[in-house]
Amino acid sequence: MESEKPMFQVENFDDEFVQKLVYDALVWCSLHGLVVGDKAYQKSGTVPGVGMTHAPIALLPTPFPESFFKQACEVAPLFNELVDRVSLDAKFIQDSLSRTKKADIFTSRLLDIHSKMLESNKKEDIRLGLHRSDYMLDEETKSLLQIEMNTISCSFPGFGRLVTELHQSLLRSHGDHLGLDSERVPKNTSTSQFADAMAKAWLEYNNPRAVVMVVVQPDERNMYDQHWLSSVLREKHNIVTIRKSLAQVEKEGSVQEDGTLIVDGQAVSVVYYRSGYTPRDYPSELEWDARLLIEQSSAVKCPSIAYHLAGTKKIQQELAKPGVLERFMDNKDDVTKLRKCFAGLWSLDDPEIIKKAIEKPELFVMKPQREGGGNNIYGDDVRENLLRFQKEGEEENAAYILMQRIFPKVSNVFLVREGVYHKDQAISELGIYGAYLRNKEKVIINEQSGYLMRTKVSSSDEGGVAAGFAVLDSIYLN
Ligand code: ADP
Ligand code: MG
Ligand code: MG
Repeated sequence: MESEKPMFQVENFDDEFVQKLVYDALVWCSLHGLVVGDKAYQKSGTVPGVGMTHAPIALLPTPFPESFFKQACEVAPLFNELVDRVSLDAKFIQDSLSRTKKADIFTSRLLDIHSKMLESNKKEDIRLGLHRSDYMLDEETKSLLQIEMNTISCSFPGFGRLVTELHQSLLRSHGDHLGLDSERVPKNTSTSQFADAMAKAWLEYNNPRAVVMVVVQPDERNMYDQHWLSSVLREKHNIVTIRKSLAQVEKEGSVQEDGTLIVDGQAVSVVYYRSGYTPRDYPSELEWDARLLIEQSSAVKCPSIAYHLAGTKKIQQELAKPGVLERFMDNKDDVTKLRKCFAGLWSLDDPEIIKKAIEKPELFVMKPQREGGGNNIYGDDVRENLLRFQKEGEEENAAYILMQRIFPKVSNVFLVREGVYHKDQAISELGIYGAYLRNKEKVIINEQSGYLMRTKVSSSDEGGVAAGFAVLDSIYLN
């Protein structure tokens, strides 16, 4: 199943050859739009075409066992279904997050919107989920373990396809020298699958004049990944996209009596959030008002408040408790397949696990209810925080969950940033995109929708490409 010998011995490549590969890769990125805003240019997050640089990339695809790739793809529709089922169980969401709510103001605000929707008996007939479930391959147990399920603002559906095509192109040109076959890099249609799902949601909404609204951060250097989806919507589906920040939605938006969301004079059929997942996206009450306004409208929200909450780390941890999955999934085999991907997950009110984590903090990760990378607690900081919670008897611990630390295989890779390559020891995280669309009882889409590998230096605890920890990567099946 897994060959122990490394696929390509990075050590054997001479600098001159690697430089040639890097050069070809950089040209490819520039010509094909695998680019991000360059932070050296002030306007690069607001004005497209100004101050662009290639996205951070791995020079070559990372070897990944085919069996585990298949496993991850196979569970994607199951996770899509699980999110949908969980989102329908308002009591489960509210109960699971009731302690967290007291300790974490952001989650509390989201729950308030959720409660308001329940009170007004709001029904979401058209349900669109564009998710990414992330995994690491645990070297010790040789198992594929889920890191988290992202249900809001999953990054890089635009670049997943591109980085795959970049690697395929490099292998076609240099594969002989490398001893690699471009056919072993699996096809990746993340961009068109996400765009197609949005287009189908737009069709279900059935207003030919309506637009798709991408909710964006005011300053977004990762705009091109998002523009890729808009581009497919326009060129393949003839659907117009508008981009608005939450503050703009508050200013320019209203909901008509029939529920239609109007922003800047245009009816909006689908709201696709690429913002709104972190407290930083809500600097004032205006942004919260906008989020509520959108939620109250009849537009298809990707995600709805319930989908958003279903993707929190606390819910992930609750789902891992014995007997909980069974409440949501009818088929026993499906339950088994999902559970197989679950790492150890615990709430911080479990004294036994707290004791273990204080003794051996290096075997755990402490996670708050946050997204976007850079928020987790590792190593000695885990111990310190747990001891502090114990001593001060704080409610604050309900803001976190504990997770088994996963240790993936470390390998030598070439990471390319700002035109320069570095050889480094790295680990990888595989993200599998999933699209789900349902109108009332009719499931229109439920599929795996491409993938994204992210690779980071093994000395860094955190992931996140935009957060500056990781680079974009694809996989080489072995
Ligand atoms: P976020 O929603 O901020 O992306 P994650 O749960 O994905 O939160 O954690 C961020 C990063 O921390 C991951 O990309 C991964 O690199 C690392 N990480 C998270 N959980 C674990 C774990 N259990 N074991 C090892 N690394 C982890
Ligand atoms: Mg996340
Ligand atoms: Mg993550």
